[in-house]
Amino acid sequence: MRILVTGGAGFIGSHLIDRLMADGNEVICLDNFYTGHKGNILKWLEHPYFELIRHDITEPIRLEIDQIYHLACPASPVHYQYNPVKTVKTNVIGTLNMLGLAKRVKARFLLASTSEVYGDPEVHPQVEEYWGNVNPIGIRSCYDEGKRIAETLTFDYHRQNDVDIRVARIFNTYGPRMLENDGRVVSNLVVQALRDIPLTVYGDGSQTRSFCYVSDLVEGLMRLMSGDHIGPVNLGNPDEYTILELANSVQKLVNPKVEIKFQSLPQDDPRRRRPDITRAKTWLNWQPTVALQEGLKLTVEDFRSRINRNQQSLVIGH
Ligand code: NAD
Ligand code: UDP
Repeated sequence: MRILVTGGAGFIGSHLIDRLMADGNEVICLDNFYTGHKGNILKWLEHPYFELIRHDITEPIRLEIDQIYHLACPASPVHYQYNPVKTVKTNVIGTLNMLGLAKRVKARFLLASTSEVYGDPEVHPQVEEYWGNVNPIGIRSCYDEGKRIAETLTFDYHRQNDVDIRVARIFNTYGPRMLENDGRVVSNLVVQALRDIPLTVYGDGSQTRSFCYVSDLVEGLMRLMSGDHIGPVNLGNPDEYTILELANSVQKLVNPKVEIKFQSLPQDDPRRRRPDITRAKTWLNWQPTVALQEGLKLTVEDFRSRINRNQQSLVIGH
């Protein structure tokens, strides 16, 4: 198979590429390096089955491929809100371009959508039939509404042009290679604990999230791509934690003495989030296998070694 991964130099994309390459596929990684890094795919750069193209998906491109995993889009609130108009363009024009490509070469197209399409959900846990509660004009809308229209485009290309589609609604995912300055809760708390600075909990920390380890998520994406169901399918870990519980777990694991600092809650921050994964279980025979404590340990080790490396290079630099 020749497989295109848009956003392949990012956090999830690079883990997906590791799996696709290990399975003997030809992989083309397309990325504009907005939040992605060459370092994430460094080990494949010289491989004859691997190709890296620096490209912004808001511009069209012609490639010969069999499958497209469409992941290109900044995922952390800090990065997608930095240039919201660009986030909308990436989701709308970028997704249009990739669907146009899928149509032209008859490639199977998988959209990495998000639990954000449910907004601040009134149905709990979230089932795929739920249409969501999204603010169309808030600071998160560029991402939430962007992904909603990306889903609409994907289903319209399917109905109108017979494009073979798959739609995954990904819930909060974490693991090695998250950016240190990502702004997402797991990376923030782990880095703060390692650096011995107070853990920032927004609001009173009673809002909930469900955290999926990246290897589980990648397995789910690959099963969805190779299966018969088009979706949408929720992919996430159904174990739900308050953000304060997460902060306490990080404290216990990394730095029991570090303080917790409460800060104001960002606008439109969803109060609770937890996937109903009945579809994923029955359609894909998939469910997460890595518990939060186990995944957190692996994530902490990755951040610890990156921070140590940076400190060493600073010392050498002096
Ligand atoms: P990430 O920011 O690490 O990766 C996104 C990648 O897309 C980066 O490499 C970035 O450089 C690239 N990119 C962004 N805009 C682009 C453009 N216009 N052209 C080409 N490349 C572009 O984020 P991630 O966590 O790996 O997320 C990957 C996908 O999964 C995203 O579509 C995101 O919406 C979705 N998702 C992620 C999560 C999560 O918790 N990580 C949750 C739900 C959905
Ligand atoms: N959050 C927090 N401290 C941080 C970063 C985030 O308390 O340093 C909270 C944030 O307000 C939200 C939750 O953690 O309620 C998850 O935030 P994240 O940005 O990781 O993802 P999303 O809100 O998109 O689910």
